[in-house]
Amino acid sequence: MREPLLRMEFFETYYYANIVHNVLNDTMPYLRNLNSWHEGREAWLFLRPFPKWSVLHDFAQYIIEDLIYERLQEVSLEAIENSRWPSLWIDQALAHHQIETPGFRAWLKQEKIDLADASQDVIHDYHNELRLTGEFDTLLTQLTNEVFYLLFGNRALLAKLNSYVSGVVDSLTRNDLAIEERHLLRKDGIPTRTHVPEWARRAIYFRDRGMCASCNTDLTGVISINKAEHYDHMFPLAAGGINDITNLQLLCASCNLKKGRRMLPTSTNYQSWYASDA
Ligand SMILES: [Zn+2]
Repeated sequence: MREPLLRMEFFETYYYANIVHNVLNDTMPYLRNLNSWHEGREAWLFLRPFPKWSVLHDFAQYIIEDLIYERLQEVSLEAIENSRWPSLWIDQALAHHQIETPGFRAWLKQEKIDLADASQDVIHDYHNELRLTGEFDTLLTQLTNEVFYLLFGNRALLAKLNSYVSGVVDSLTRNDLAIEERHLLRKDGIPTRTHVPEWARRAIYFRDRGMCASCNTDLTGVISINKAEHYDHMFPLAAGGINDITNLQLLCASCNLKKGRRMLPTSTNYQSWYASDA
């Protein structure tokens, strides 16, 4: 079966991606947000092997949702009253993503609310209504997928996210988990090693364009009796690294051997779209 294509609208995608990037790049000022993200999440979710909704999806979604609600405080009912159309940011975003909804004004009418005597709470109520009917979550998923698409190529950033997560995971013990989830941690508290699924291998191979992420050796043409590519956990399991696609990189056999259980910085070299001198 052919995988459906991801539709990218790029409606403020860079704005959200930039904030996710900034939070991860300099965690100190945002520590409170980061803490409330992982504290609000059940610990075992970090240990599930290779969920397709990766830890970056989850984190980006958390940030985007927070920002959408933060924006509500800046909306003035007066400005809406005086403008003909469009009204709320959420309506514009839904329209861009072709998610059908009657819109804020139609909803007001239906609820028999007169904009002139409405309070600021009515905007929150409208958003809550969109949550109940599902449009809000559809939008949130779409925005998150777009941000993931932009950021997944940035290995150094993914390493930062995984570094933060490893701190959370490192402090977990089997007693923090329900009995049926305890197999996800070894007795010594290290996440259990699991098989890297084929879809994750392919994604990493294509993302890293068949090149070792440490020494940049081209592995696509390497003929070897040993397996040429290694799917390496950037943050080793022994250091609280997790079985998540965002924690993987492609390494050649020699870098993989050299690395052992240490943490090697991932290369910041990327192949350009085309050569500038030929
Ligand atoms: Zn290498």
